[in-house]
Amino acid sequence: MSLLQAQDITRRFGGFTAVDGVSLSLAPAEVLGIAGTNGAGKSTLFASLAGQQLPDSGQIRWLGQDISQAPPHQRARAGLVRTFQVPREFKSLSVLDNLLVAAPQVRAETLLGTFWTSSAARQQERALVEKAEQVLEFLNLSRVRDTLAGGLSGGQKKLVELGRVLMLEPRCILLDEPFAGVNPVLIDEISERIRQLHARGLAFIIIEHHLQALKALAGRLIVMDRGRILAEGEPEAVLNDARVQEAYMGG
Ligand code: ADP
Ligand code: MG
Repeated sequence: MSLLQAQDITRRFGGFTAVDGVSLSLAPAEVLGIAGTNGAGKSTLFASLAGQQLPDSGQIRWLGQDISQAPPHQRARAGLVRTFQVPREFKSLSVLDNLLVAAPQVRAETLLGTFWTSSAARQQERALVEKAEQVLEFLNLSRVRDTLAGGLSGGQKKLVELGRVLMLEPRCILLDEPFAGVNPVLIDEISERIRQLHARGLAFIIIEHHLQALKALAGRLIVMDRGRILAEGEPEAVLNDARVQEAYMGG
C-alpha cells in the first residue's frame, strides 16, 4: 500500500491554477524528488499534501485513509510533516527552544519557566529536552544549542527546520528546497542526514533546484511545469527528457 497518495490535486488562486490535476504516490521509505521551474506549483502542492492549503479538488490519502480535509497538526500526528522553503524559525528563541516549541506536547509554561509546575509536567519537560538534545546531536547542532536561531547561517537554519519536524517523529518528511541558500559543505551534510533518516525507514519528498544533489538522493523524480507533471521516473532519464530540457531552457 502507498504511504501517501495524491489524486488529481487542483489548487487555484482566483482565476489562476497553481496546481493542475497532479497525482502522485509515495511508497513507504521511498525518496521522491520534485524539480521544476519557479512558479511550477511545487510548494503549493506541498501545502495541499501537508494541509496548510486545502485543494480545490482532488484527494489525499495517507496509508489508505482520506486526509484531504484534515488540518496540518492532525496530519503531523499521523506522521506526515513538511518543512518550508523559507525557514520559519523563531529568530529570538534559542535553537533548543525552537525544537521544543515544535513538539505538540509543549506548554507555554515550559518555555516561560513558570515556577509552579506539577512534577508530571516537569518530567515531561525533561523528556522533551532530552529528545531535543538528541535531535540536535544528530544534526550536529549541539554547539549552537543556546544560540538565537535568527543568528544562524542559511544552512544551519535549514537544519533547525529539519530538527523541528524531527521532534514530531514523522514517517514522511516533505522537504521544500532544503539546499537553497546552503553552502556546498552543508549541502553534503544535510544530504547525509537525509540518507541516515531514510536508512531508518523515513520516506521523503524533496523539492529542489540543486539537481545534482537531488539526483544523488532520490530514487524517482517528478518534474513539474505550470502546475502539471511534465515527466516522471528514473531521475537521469527524466532530466534527459526533451520536454524537461525545453522547460528548463524557458521554451
Ligand atoms: P514553486 O514552489 O514551484 O516555485 P509555488 O507553488 O510557490 O511554485 O507557486 C505556484 C504559483 O502560484 C505561482 O505563480 C505563485 O505566484 C502562485 N501562488 C502561490 N501561492 C499563492 C497565493 N497564496 N496567492 C496567490 N498566488 C499564489
Ligand atoms: Mg516553492
